[in-house]
Amino acid sequence: MRSSTGTATTATDRDRQDPRDHRAGYVGRFAPSPTGDLHLGSLYTATAAYLQARAHNGRFLVRIEDLDRPREVPGAADRILATLEAFGFEWDGPVLRQSEHTDRYQDALGLLRAQGRLFACDCSRSRLANTAAYPGSCRSRSPGTIGEPCAWRVRIDPAPIRLNDRLQGSFERDLRRHGGDFVVRRRDGIVAYVLGVVIDDADQGVTEVVRGADLLESTPQQIHLQTLLSLPTPSYAHLPVLTEPDGAKLAKSRRTSRLNPLAPVDELTQVFALLGLDPPAGVREGSLADAWAWALRHWRLSCVPKGLERAL
Ligand code: GLU
Repeated sequence: MRSSTGTATTATDRDRQDPRDHRAGYVGRFAPSPTGDLHLGSLYTATAAYLQARAHNGRFLVRIEDLDRPREVPGAADRILATLEAFGFEWDGPVLRQSEHTDRYQDALGLLRAQGRLFACDCSRSRLANTAAYPGSCRSRSPGTIGEPCAWRVRIDPAPIRLNDRLQGSFERDLRRHGGDFVVRRRDGIVAYVLGVVIDDADQGVTEVVRGADLLESTPQQIHLQTLLSLPTPSYAHLPVLTEPDGAKLAKSRRTSRLNPLAPVDELTQVFALLGLDPPAGVREGSLADAWAWALRHWRLSCVPKGLERAL
């Protein structure tokens, strides 16, 4: 079953959608990469995904996206889970760690290969620098003429890919101009994020993805893979990315993004406000459980401020 991501709706329609309308079998998720500890930006994403799932009486899953072992910070995965717990998140079922079931991605690569969609590419990074889209240099080279180390790219189609994001509205990308044939297995042998996320969202039955707008650009690639692999397309809601007050990327080391797990209610109420809620003083002074109960009563995806970025 494909979702309504391809259906045109207006901003007004989106605002009218009540997230508390029960959608049978809602499954949401939070999928952090263990490249550092949980910070304000990731708490904000997790909170929106959690409230959206619970407001639909849905399931909420946590998945550790640890395919990129070289970028993993030792101990970060466990610390992320401990911090989520300290902030009162409750997830359903065991935490899925991508590194523990890489055979699923190999199966998907096998399917793409059998469709003639994969090709090897040994272009260097510098050769591809300054191009908005892969120029197709290795697209027609005969298989077998390129040895490892090489990346594996998937062939794209000429038609534009559209999605109707629940926060960002209608979004369209012609992959020929945005990225071109893209990498699904990196030169170092690691499965690319886009393939891992598509397989796991489908395997876990995720119906709605709530995540940062920094991933909006990669969503058309994900939809392309879902189509090739006959997987459902979940609905998407891309949250504005939090930035420093001066618009700079939220730096994990700065005071503004560091979390204090000893004051979870303070931190959470700040996050609720960033998500467009208006927690009264009583919520700030109350318990963690009361703060979540209040947020759940007031949560509306349509209250989240619009835009790709939101300055602190
Ligand atoms: N693992 C990604 C990250 O931490 C998020 C992936 C997703 O939500 O699709 O940025």
